[in-house]
Amino acid sequence: AKDKGKNQYMFFNKSMNQEIYDRMYIHNNLRTALEENQFQLHYQPQIDSKSKKVIGFEALIRWETEEFGFIPPLKFIKIAEESDMIIKIGNWILKEAAKFSKEINQYNKDNYIVSVNVSSVQLKQDNFVETVKKIIKEAGALPKNMGIEITETSLMDNFESNANKVKKLRELGIKVALDDFGTGYSSLNYLRQLPINILKLDKSFIEDLLKNNNIYNLTEDIILMSQKLGLTVVAEGVEMKDQFDLLSNYNCDIIQGYLVSRPIPKEEAVKFIGPEVEF
Ligand code: C2E
Ligand code: CA
Ligand code: CA
Ligand code: CA
Repeated sequence: AKDKGKNQYMFFNKSMNQEIYDRMYIHNNLRTALEENQFQLHYQPQIDSKSKKVIGFEALIRWETEEFGFIPPLKFIKIAEESDMIIKIGNWILKEAAKFSKEINQYNKDNYIVSVNVSSVQLKQDNFVETVKKIIKEAGALPKNMGIEITETSLMDNFESNANKVKKLRELGIKVALDDFGTGYSSLNYLRQLPINILKLDKSFIEDLLKNNNIYNLTEDIILMSQKLGLTVVAEGVEMKDQFDLLSNYNCDIIQGYLVSRPIPKEEAVKFIGPEVEF
């Protein structure tokens, strides 16, 4: 039944564990999804906390299927990571984001940064840096208008080799952000050794900011420490004006979250470019 494409699913009924079914569906359809252009990138604006102007966008992948509707990235990225599909999808993401970056540049806006999330599996490839460089170049984008987000956890595993790759990306002019900071195990000492230039405070911190005094104090400390290390701090998951005000008072540099905008298609995202954003 293997080569009968979608029909193979007829053999599985509802008694089968839904989780296993979902997994198989995703595993078997990632390639087609890529080939048939079912993936889309959405872009979430990031604003400067002082000027309230957009400074860049984070690209976030979206997959809409006929059978199941929208499948969340956290679900299919993990499965893509179990095969070489994450490399193919990852390269597609980089290419799309680089094309968007170039498009923004054509509006004579040359300081915007389009950032993409990179999987630990991509980072692990020997030719990762070369691949990124090549894709950006072929899309006609400039490395200084591109950012790479790497989670704390994937960076810490295989630290030396990864730090070396980050260094090379930085030398090309690409911005490198440590994503989900606060959820892994990085210590101050690691941060000092890392050639990253952006730190993204995990949204779990922001969520607890107004509820929990310890988190409140810790966030202030992290921002102060980052400034000493010369890092730009981004707060993600900012949903409320009170959170924004507090973070802005703490001199958190960049704000990202539903308060400003959800991730949106590029046609809508470009409308944020220019004037102060209202919220
Ligand atoms: P992430 O990189 O930490 O991305 C931030 C997630 O928070 C996104 O979820 C975004 O839509 C969501 N978010 C943004 N603002 C708010 C807010 O104010 N409140 C709340 N509650 N959520 C907010 P999304 O798009 O579902 O992505 C989830 C995760 O999936 C990402 O976490 C990232 O780890 C992964 N992912 C998404 N797109 C890609 C991609 O293109 N490549 C790779 N490798 N991973 C991706
Ligand atoms: Ca991210
Ligand atoms: Ca994050
Ligand atoms: Ca995350």
